[in-house]
Amino acid sequence: MPDLTLTSVAKSFGSNAVLHDLDLHVDEGEFFTLLGPSGCGKSTTLWSIAGLHSPDRGTIAFGDRVVFDGGRIDVPPERRNCGVVFQSYAVWPHLSVHDNVGYPLKLRRVGHAARAARVREVLDLVELGAYEKRYPHELSGGQQQRVALARALAHQPDLLLLDEPFSNLDAKLRERAREWLRALQQRIGVTTVFVTHDQDEALSMSDRLLVMDQGRVRQIGTPEEVYRIPADEFVADFVGTVN
Ligand code: ADP
Ligand code: MG
Repeated sequence: MPDLTLTSVAKSFGSNAVLHDLDLHVDEGEFFTLLGPSGCGKSTTLWSIAGLHSPDRGTIAFGDRVVFDGGRIDVPPERRNCGVVFQSYAVWPHLSVHDNVGYPLKLRRVGHAARAARVREVLDLVELGAYEKRYPHELSGGQQQRVALARALAHQPDLLLLDEPFSNLDAKLRERAREWLRALQQRIGVTTVFVTHDQDEALSMSDRLLVMDQGRVRQIGTPEEVYRIPADEFVADFVGTVN
């Protein structure tokens, strides 16, 4: 399981500068959260890590392996070995649960028997062992997100990247999903970057979090540090500390 390092990562869309020389380091096995208001650049950061966007400058490394270095190195997404769960369009409606989860393995040309075994294993992990033959429309929103998570984990990714995975769930389900996901992450120990605009989610789930504002880091710390000793007024406001 590698760690993750971003050094001076910058990204603009046209004249809109979205990431300003972003530096961050995620430890091996850590649950690390990017927290900030809508539009601050969280998804752009996650997509850059996954290889779905190319930054304009900077370096991204998984352990010793540099996956992006300015224009010189830009490893394509399928060779970065990330598992990604997006906010919406999480699962393919026309594929069964089995085929959704098995898809990344099929892409990697894993044989039929090994694929079936791994799909079963990973569906058990997300507690959906009995749902293999179902289709997404037969599942609840929460179950569909668990299918998406199983798919992200199927090929044993080095990094798990989660972009607001609970945003389509209602408040009660969301709270249960938090605890459940955190317990699962600890059990498998996968290095995780979690994106949210929800301060409660960030404070309750993370080993450490990064508070982001307009593509800049305001603070990086444990939930305790960020909550008790906010670096500035923005952080204090955003995490809801009264000062
Ligand atoms: P967040 O995930 O924190 O809500 P994003 O990373 O999605 O923020 O977006 C940050 C900024 O980048 C926004 O101003 C958004 O409009 C812009 N942006 C994101 N993706 C694109 C894109 N593909 N093309 C142009 N602008 C984009
Ligand atoms: Mg986003």
